[in-house]
Amino acid sequence: MQLYTIETGLFKLDGGAMFGVVPKSIWNRTNPADQNNLCTWAMRCLLIQEGKRLVLVDTGIGEKQDQKFFDHYYLHGADTLDKSLAKHGFGRTDITDVLLTHLHFDHCGGAIARDQEGNLVAAFPNATYWSNEEHWNWATLPNEREKASFLKENILPIRESGQLRFLPTTDGTSFMEDVRIRLTGGHTAAMMLPQISYKGKTILYMADLLPSTGHLPLPYVMAYDMFPLTTLKEKRHYLTEALEGQYILYFEHDPVNECCTLQQTEKGIRVGELFKLSDLD
Ligand SMILES: [Zn+2]
Repeated sequence: MQLYTIETGLFKLDGGAMFGVVPKSIWNRTNPADQNNLCTWAMRCLLIQEGKRLVLVDTGIGEKQDQKFFDHYYLHGADTLDKSLAKHGFGRTDITDVLLTHLHFDHCGGAIARDQEGNLVAAFPNATYWSNEEHWNWATLPNEREKASFLKENILPIRESGQLRFLPTTDGTSFMEDVRIRLTGGHTAAMMLPQISYKGKTILYMADLLPSTGHLPLPYVMAYDMFPLTTLKEKRHYLTEALEGQYILYFEHDPVNECCTLQQTEKGIRVGELFKLSDLD
């Protein structure tokens, strides 16, 4: 198996919303806000190459929305999904599977593209798209608080493409050899975290359970989360398991850090070593 980091660019989100009850005077030290109180975040996907399969985990925000939408999120940085795939010698048609941790726009926007006539079509024509039924039902009948994150144009065309499949919502479900799906429900219903055995290590793709290293302290839970106390419980559970198992955490939204190990400190579980996925090669 080979893993590749796929950077799809940077965007900005309100720092207060990203850190929930934590005051700005504290989070601003690690994640400095701009004049609009916005902080920069990565949209870092992951590519898993195993035999004939080429699995893309999440897709970034995509390119099909209008300028007004993108202006709202201040997209920046030189990386794009296509450029990052090309860097490793791949293109969209090579992708056999797209594993969507959840259907918020910054994770699944790139799953759908516009064709030359402007129709919304699967951006990866040869891929099976993986979600789960519980999350799909939640995302397609969204509550008012989460509605702005679930965009119809990102979601419904996946089903219309005929390429959608559901995974069982059992924690630890096997997705493929050396890849299991871990389940969480605090950020949104039935979010899936791929757990990968790689080069003798265990890598956990944190998605929005732990967006960045700045979110390691337990009460640093995003205001975006639907069930913050569930997130708190899940953070405790996964961080303890990851510390004991010496897992490597892989961050989707950390603007700087790709991966870290953990260590126990007097204050709680914190960053051990920081490194890039390619450092494992
Ligand atoms: Zn999310």
